[in-house]
Amino acid sequence: MSDCLFCEIAAGRIPCRQAYADSEFLAFHDINPQAPTHVLIIPRRHIASTAELKPADEPLLGRLLLTAARVAADLKLMPAGYRWVINCGPEAGQSVPHLHLHLLGGRRLDWPPG
Ligand code: 5GP
Ligand code: ZN
Repeated sequence: MSDCLFCEIAAGRIPCRQAYADSEFLAFHDINPQAPTHVLIIPRRHIASTAELKPADEPLLGRLLLTAARVAADLKLMPAGYRWVINCGPEAGQSVPHLHLHLLGGRRLDWPPG
């Protein structure tokens, strides 16, 4: 989708600070980090949100989580720990309608989240 910001980043038409890339996923540092490490992991394929997921997306979701765990390991976030967040819809604060997993770490993260 050419009017989708994260599709444009995935296509390399908008620059990002890349943390990991393969044929299916891209991980890049958030432009407005909320923690010392704040990386977004996205599927290259456009999926607007978790509300759009289909049963056929099950393998993709497994690989998304494994990719996020790999990026967390690469960035040495363990054993201190880290958090994954996926916002869906306006009340959760989703501002970019392309599925993305936030990987946050490098500081103590409060619970419950805001
Ligand atoms: P959401 O609020 O949809 O869960 O998360 C969207 C995230 O994308 C936000 O944390 C925001 O800072 C980040 N973001 C928005 N535009 C850009 C951009 O152009 N580049 C990067 N690297 N991050 C962006
Ligand atoms: Zn998109």
